[in-house]
Amino acid sequence: MLTSISGKSVIVTGGSKGIGKGIAQVFAAQGAKVMIAARGIEAAEAAASDIVAKGGTAEAISCDVADWDSVQSMVAATTDAFGAVDILCANAGIFPQMKMVDMSPDDWDHVMAVNLKSSFLCVKACIPAFEAAGKGRVVLTSSITGPVTGFPGWSHYGASKSGQLGFLKTAAMELSRYNTTINAVMPGNIFTEGLQDLGEDYLKTMAASIPLKRLGAVEDIGNAALFFASDEAGYITGQEIVVDGGQILPESLEAIDEI
Ligand code: NAP
Repeated sequence: MLTSISGKSVIVTGGSKGIGKGIAQVFAAQGAKVMIAARGIEAAEAAASDIVAKGGTAEAISCDVADWDSVQSMVAATTDAFGAVDILCANAGIFPQMKMVDMSPDDWDHVMAVNLKSSFLCVKACIPAFEAAGKGRVVLTSSITGPVTGFPGWSHYGASKSGQLGFLKTAAMELSRYNTTINAVMPGNIFTEGLQDLGEDYLKTMAASIPLKRLGAVEDIGNAALFFASDEAGYITGQEIVVDGGQILPESLEAIDEI
């Protein structure tokens, strides 16, 4: 039982859908006050309303995590609403699939800005709050794609997700000055709105290649994030955890058939 989340103020970027929505619900169920940030305010407000309807505390804000002014406004609004920022879940990300031959330099830059630069912007914007509180927690949503595996069409995405882990290590050292930890969750294939957009065939093939024989649920990632955010995980920083149902383990298709 993690005892230290109740009453904490949490920002979840990309909290209007998918994994972020799951993270927000897991934290709210533990008594956290959740700020749901996404570009689309209607979906963010709907996600916040779901939490409030279940007796939790949540608010919504429109934010583009690739934009410095927007990120600063998100952090200021959270401090105004909840009096602090105790935990940042930097989760928002995009995964447009296109092979290098079709990818423009602008396509590359856009994915880097939303997935990688945003990690820096969101963490930087929260430092004054962590410093004021004398403590803090950051959880990044990375991926297995890039740091561990490859998939045609995701060279930019994989690079951005590996980049988050490179950022993590030095960020952990710099944030230790503010008694703040930063860790990363690396999801496998998690059943989300974004993943559904890749089509039925993709979902079926992926589920078949996972030893636990199912796609992950958003709560599987929320629970890992909850652990990193807890007081109980206070001596863990700069680390990564793969949450993928064993997806990265098989050496071959035959290895899956042997199960
Ligand atoms: P999703 O269902 O498409 O949801 C993405 C969320 O991010 C939405 O709330 C979206 O809202 C928000 N978002 C996108 N661009 C944004 C921006 N520029 N500024 C602020 N918010 C933005 O995606 P998901 O599958 O939950 O993925 C969430 C994270 O998990 C991503 O970082 C992804 O790389 C990572 N991940 C997912 C999987 C998976 O299997 N699903 C696996 C590994 C890693 P708006 O569009 O309204 O802004």
